[in-house]
Amino acid sequence: MQGNGKIVIVGAGLSGAVIGRELALAGHEVEILDARDHIAGNCHTERDADTGVMVHVYGPHIFHTDDAEVWDYVNGFQTFMPYKNRVKTTSKDRVYSLPVNLHTINQFFGKTLRPDEAKAFIEEQADKTIADPQTFEEQAMRFVGKDLYEAFFKGYTEKQWGCSPTELPASILKRLPVRFNYDDNYFFHKFQGMPENGYTDMIGRILDHPNIHVTLSKRFERAEHADASHVFYSGQLDGYFDYEAGRLGYRTLDFERFSYDGDYQGCAVMNYGDASVPFTRITEHKHFSPWEEHQGSVCYREFSRACGPDDIPYYPIRMVEEKEQLAQYVTRAEKERGVTFVGRLGTYRYLDMDVTIREALDTARLYLSKLADGADMPAFLHRPV
Ligand SMILES: Cc1cc2nc3c(=O)[nH]c(=O)nc-3n(C[C@H](O)[C@H](O)[C@H](O)COP(=O)(O)OP(=O)(O)OC[C@H]3O[C@@H](n4cnc5c(N)ncnc54)[C@H](O)[C@@H]3O)c2cc1C
Repeated sequence: MQGNGKIVIVGAGLSGAVIGRELALAGHEVEILDARDHIAGNCHTERDADTGVMVHVYGPHIFHTDDAEVWDYVNGFQTFMPYKNRVKTTSKDRVYSLPVNLHTINQFFGKTLRPDEAKAFIEEQADKTIADPQTFEEQAMRFVGKDLYEAFFKGYTEKQWGCSPTELPASILKRLPVRFNYDDNYFFHKFQGMPENGYTDMIGRILDHPNIHVTLSKRFERAEHADASHVFYSGQLDGYFDYEAGRLGYRTLDFERFSYDGDYQGCAVMNYGDASVPFTRITEHKHFSPWEEHQGSVCYREFSRACGPDDIPYYPIRMVEEKEQLAQYVTRAEKERGVTFVGRLGTYRYLDMDVTIREALDTARLYLSKLADGADMPAFLHRPV
């Protein structure tokens, strides 16, 4: 451990807030900086002034987990309201249920199949000439066949990743993406819900401790914090090194926001599977809070594209090229002293909120035990390569 100053945490998102609170509870003074003018990072929610709808500003966030400790943790700061994520998709002027389930199959093929019949039917659709699928497309064709692949996977994936599914690895579609029952709950996790007053309120409560000092609209500059006893950095890994080995590839999102008087689409998330529709989905935010009533509505049309230097990085791409670049940054990071890279940007991984919290709790605990032993804290708890 180095420096005698405060612990500095870069980012007031979930990673920074959870680490900050654990260290504050252990008696440390913690300074948290965020470049944005609000806390909560990409989970930020705020009420729309006109309609009163709770808006998920950086895209829809549904909390789901199997981790009982994490579920108890979030429930300590917020009442979680029951919420099941049920997604619909529009494909060629028809609406279907997602994830592809027995209802979708019966609707799509105009049949009344029972589970066993549907399994046999999908087996017949599958392209069995593909013995060892290498690409996303081959994997999908092998699992579900051409018709379902083209209606529900091809166009959406092209729009989401900006490339052909023939260029994406098969591993993205690990297992059979079809259910042979009528379960349309998007997630399998044991616990699922929505924070009653939004994520920003929840994260505000996590940060509410006398040992935690948050400064907003403040970008981290390494030179200003040379005396920090330790830095936990949840910003971009490549950004920490001034992008010297190039920028790690991300997808960014553009949200076209519009209002509606009434109920625009009758559900929270409507995907658009056709490549001819330029957006991937429309989210109608009031349906994320089904316990509230609002006449007005706020919707987002969501567009995905390559992330430029001035855009918000959303999804790490992690193709072969990025992995080589990432390895260079990881090597550099591991030579640094007194800094640990955390969270979705610091480790260049897509992390759900529950995983983010789990890793943040583990990071803070490891730090406290290393401190007690007088040992060095590693640059990564979870090595990104
Ligand atoms: C579109 C979308 C939808 C998602 N939906 C879900 C979902 O339904 N369920 C789920 O569980 N998870 C979801 N997630 C994942 C969720 O957003 C992440 O788990 C969470 O945001 C990770 O928190 P974090 O603190 O690591 O990162 P962030 O939330 O990104 O916070 C990092 C913070 O660091 C700040 N920062 C960065 N660099 C600097 C710097 N140099 N100086 C100062 N501040 C800096 C940023 O401003 C930001 O506030 C979704 C993600 C996306 C992109």
